[in-house]
Amino acid sequence: MTKEEIRALAKNCGIDLVGFTTCERLDQKLPESVRPSQISEYLPVFMVLARHIPVGISAAADGSAKQMAAAIVHRVLEEAAAGLAYVLEEKEYLAVVLPSLTMDFKGRDELSNTPAGQASLYLRLAAVEAGLGTLGLNNMLLTREFGPRVYLCGMMTNLEVEADEPLQNELCLGLEDCGRCAAVCPGDAIPRQSRLGAPLADYRGLDGRACATYSQPHGVGAFVDHFRSVFRQDDPTELRSKIDSSDTSLLWYNMAVLRQGAFTGCSRCLQVCPIGNDYESIQISPHRQRDLPVGLRSQISGENVSILLSNPAASRGHKTDEVSKG
Ligand code: SF4
Ligand code: SF4
Repeated sequence: MTKEEIRALAKNCGIDLVGFTTCERLDQKLPESVRPSQISEYLPVFMVLARHIPVGISAAADGSAKQMAAAIVHRVLEEAAAGLAYVLEEKEYLAVVLPSLTMDFKGRDELSNTPAGQASLYLRLAAVEAGLGTLGLNNMLLTREFGPRVYLCGMMTNLEVEADEPLQNELCLGLEDCGRCAAVCPGDAIPRQSRLGAPLADYRGLDGRACATYSQPHGVGAFVDHFRSVFRQDDPTELRSKIDSSDTSLLWYNMAVLRQGAFTGCSRCLQVCPIGNDYESIQISPHRQRDLPVGLRSQISGENVSILLSNPAASRGHKTDEVSKG
C-alpha cells in the first residue's frame, strides 16, 4: 500500500493527520525505557496519528466543559486508531495502537504528558520525526493545519513504507515575535525570557510540575498527595472529612469517567497559539479575544527580551477562571 492509500483509510476512520517514521530512527533519539524496540522488533514502522480539537472547544469558556470535551476527543482518536488497526489487519498487515497519554512507568517520568495533555513527550517527538510539525515554545507539537490543537496517538506496524522527513523550519514564532502561550500560562510554566535573537532551541522548555498543577488538577500527582494525607490522618473526624471530600469525588470522577481528561484541565497554551489554519475561526470567539485583555506586553533589557504575564495573579498560585474547576 502507498502512504496516500493509508492516509485515505485513516481519514475514513476519523484520523486527520498521519506521519510515518521508523522505530529504528526513534530508538536512536528516545530514552531506553520508551524506545519502540522495547515494544516489538517485528513492527518496524511507527505511525503518528492526529485528530484535531474542534474549534468549539476553544470557543468555550467553562473549564470543566472544555476538559470533558477534550477527554472525548482523546477517546474518539483512540477508537479511530483501533479501527484503522482492524482495517490494516483485514489487508493482512499487523498494527498495534499506542495510547496517546502513555506514561513512562519505567523511567518514572510522570510529567511527560504536560502540557495540556496533548500526548506524551515521546509521541510528540515521534510526531516531529514523522514530519507532522515542530515543537512550540513549551514543547507542545505545532502542526501547519491545526497549530497545537491536536491530540496524538501512535501505531507500530509492519507496513512497507518510507519514512517521512522532519520539517526543515520551526513553526513556532518564538518568544521575541510571539510568546502568547507564555503570557497566558496560569502556572508561569513556559519560559518568558530569552536573549535577543537567540534560536528557539536555546530557550524552549516547560516546568512540567508547574504545568501539572493546572493541567492535571486531579491527575496522578494529586491522587498520590490526597491519599497520602488520608492514610496519615489519625483523627477519625478529620479522616472521615477527607474521605468524604470533593477532592475524593473529583479524583474518582477523573479516573473513572473523564480518564484522558485528567490531563487536560488547562489548555490555554493550545488556544492562544496563532499557528494553524484553524486559528482564524478560533479568534473570532469573544473568549479568545479576551485572552490578552491589555495585549501582549514585553520588555527589553540589555540583551534580553521578557514577556509579561497577562494575569500576574497566576504567578502567586491563583487559578484563573477558565482553568478547570474539576
Ligand atoms: S497554559 Fe496550561 S497547559 Fe499550557 S503550559 Fe501553562 S499550565 Fe500547562
Ligand atoms: S503561542 Fe507563539 S510562542 Fe507559543 S508556541 Fe505558539 S507560536 Fe510559539
